[in-house]
Amino acid sequence: MPETLLEVQNLKKVYEAATGNVEAIGDISFRMKAGELVCIVGPSGCGKTTLLKCIAGLLRPTAGSVELDGQAVTNPPESMALVFQEYGRSLYPWLTVRGNVELPLKHKRMSRADRDRLVDDALKAVGLDHADKSYPWRLSGGMQQRVAIARAVAYQPEVLIMDEPFAAVDAQTRADLEDLVRTLHRERGMSILFVTHDIDESVYLGERVVVLSKSPTWVQEDLAIDLPPARDQITTRAMPRFTELRTHVYEQIQRAKRGEAVRPGAVA
Ligand code: ADP
Repeated sequence: MPETLLEVQNLKKVYEAATGNVEAIGDISFRMKAGELVCIVGPSGCGKTTLLKCIAGLLRPTAGSVELDGQAVTNPPESMALVFQEYGRSLYPWLTVRGNVELPLKHKRMSRADRDRLVDDALKAVGLDHADKSYPWRLSGGMQQRVAIARAVAYQPEVLIMDEPFAAVDAQTRADLEDLVRTLHRERGMSILFVTHDIDESVYLGERVVVLSKSPTWVQEDLAIDLPPARDQITTRAMPRFTELRTHVYEQIQRAKRGEAVRPGAVA
């Protein structure tokens, strides 16, 4: 049995605002094993960003804990990489594609040759080996997001966290980028935690889909996605099982929005 890589235990976050306290996260617990691709999905405002900030060590939870490899996360862990929706703001315009991908590796102790090898390999993995000397602002949105992904691949994180990464690109580009994520997971065994509000995307990508309730958030369902691991946009999405799973998640989200689902152990 693969070991637990990430463990979120009874996480609670209450924001203290001038207008009163806001309980954003009620009680979230889930685990992720090394090599898994887990999607988190929930209605907007349900606390996805708050959860990710706590996991990434950027925000201190009010109660509960986050552990990566058995170590409590209290600051941003070095072995974590993040890819956000806003690729334009995550890349340095004065650096070339290669310069952007290489930058985090400069903080790691390694020879120049090893660094070059990792950058070449990552650029190839995302299909940008021909564009290494370009500047990001000359590239399309989808290609810029590939640069951000290449940077994460080259860094060789223990876990890659992706926060709504494809929400700002067109549908065809989005499909291509989803397939890139599946390929990185399957061929490189990358552990990926992927947050999205897109139900179809969560079912297409995930081996598990963690459905969040509305705020104050808890895990409404942790659903195993029993689709074959070799997925493609046409065959997989046409499968009756895909339709069943997406319908199921959709219904769960509707229940979450209506606040119908009852938290286990909650006093009625
Ligand atoms: P999501 O990413 O799912 O849209 P968020 O984590 O951004 O959800 O927000 C969850 C809840 O916490 C919302 O009710 C939001 O208004 C509230 N919230 C988020 N950030 C703050 C903050 N800094 N201060 C007060 N309330 C906040």
